[in-house]
Amino acid sequence: MNESIINPYYDRLPGSYLFSTIAKKIKEYQGTHENADIIRLGIGDVTSPLIPAVIEAMHKAVNEMGVKWTFRGYGPEQGYDFLREAIIRGEYTPRGVEMDPDDVFVSDGSKCDVANIQELFAADAKIAIPDPVYPVYLDSNVMAGRTGTLQADGHFSEVTYLASTAENNFQPDLPKNPVQLIYLCSPNNPTGTVLNRETLQKFVDYANETGALILFDGAYNCYIRDENLPHSIYEIPGARTCAIEFRSFSKTAGFTGVRCAYTIVPHELGKLRSMWNRRQCTKFNGVNYVTQRAAEAIYTPEGWEQTKAVIKDYMDTAAIIRKELTSCGYTVFGGEHAPYIWWKLPENEKSFDFFDRLLATCEVVGTPGSGFGPCGEGYFRLTAFGDQEQTKVALQRIKERL
Ligand SMILES: *Cc1c(COP(=O)(O)O)cnc(C)c1O
Repeated sequence: MNESIINPYYDRLPGSYLFSTIAKKIKEYQGTHENADIIRLGIGDVTSPLIPAVIEAMHKAVNEMGVKWTFRGYGPEQGYDFLREAIIRGEYTPRGVEMDPDDVFVSDGSKCDVANIQELFAADAKIAIPDPVYPVYLDSNVMAGRTGTLQADGHFSEVTYLASTAENNFQPDLPKNPVQLIYLCSPNNPTGTVLNRETLQKFVDYANETGALILFDGAYNCYIRDENLPHSIYEIPGARTCAIEFRSFSKTAGFTGVRCAYTIVPHELGKLRSMWNRRQCTKFNGVNYVTQRAAEAIYTPEGWEQTKAVIKDYMDTAAIIRKELTSCGYTVFGGEHAPYIWWKLPENEKSFDFFDRLLATCEVVGTPGSGFGPCGEGYFRLTAFGDQEQTKVALQRIKERL
């Protein structure tokens, strides 16, 4: 095979992937410490089982699939109307946002949607991404050749970074250079902080004035406990003409393994909506019926109560982490409207050095902030998805040994 047929941009991806580096370090430690009792607070996956309402809906849907009259083959690529309507009733109507079911595109994940959406944009479109943030936005743009090359300081030459740090209260400034695509993630992974109404309005106004498009990832919106904070970009006046929103059942309802999400492309975006529809119809054949019935069940009264109870358990764990670290004199952010705690490391310790120190002294694992972008250096991410009792043990060790 001739090398010239290969997409050259994959070679520009930052070296080894964060989590594989971490896995290797843990393995090495276990190799030299036979009786290691490692507690993982780095886990970015849910751990609670599916709620009873979801399981019941799945069983029922499975039975329908076994009967000639209720069997379903290919469904609509955009999702069944019952789910699109349930999403609007459950998520948007209660927050005063009107939505047309045709603007809701059900999919098998936000990770793929947020990466696939780029197919609608010009190859030379300039992007802005939060720093730090979920690595998928950057990596997928690297693959598409939109980022330029990686510089010694950890930045890509053609990317505009939206610094989010304690100094700006995790409310990034508008892009310094002209950009056409702006990624926002709120509540943010990894910082666990939320973009407030003023910040979102500023970005929406900028986008409408300049003709840019906002790609808003709201994967953790269900963890927001302050009803006055915006849950959706469409709560911001003007957003329908400049924003696409990504939502997922992964963190909302433990669907990381089940796979179901949705993307909102408002008809006010005109051509983009029909292009996304065309893209999905060409390259995607819909989410399976059983899964869509499972997702629908989240919005029944019992399903919603059960879902909120699971989220509350995670957030109770987050509160414990916050309280214990704060009582030791550490500065922490997030964990109030997201399952992530963003730990400011004292004396500007490098986040990978701290990873090693925390593992060696406490046998506790977290995620180095620098893995999420240059501004993540000097921070460390802990998650509230782990077992609550184990998390308490981890914090006790941190208190005593670190
Ligand atoms: C977990 C996560 C998602 C969800 O991805 P799925 O593919 O739907 O599981 C999206 N965005 C962020 C920031 C996440 O952390």
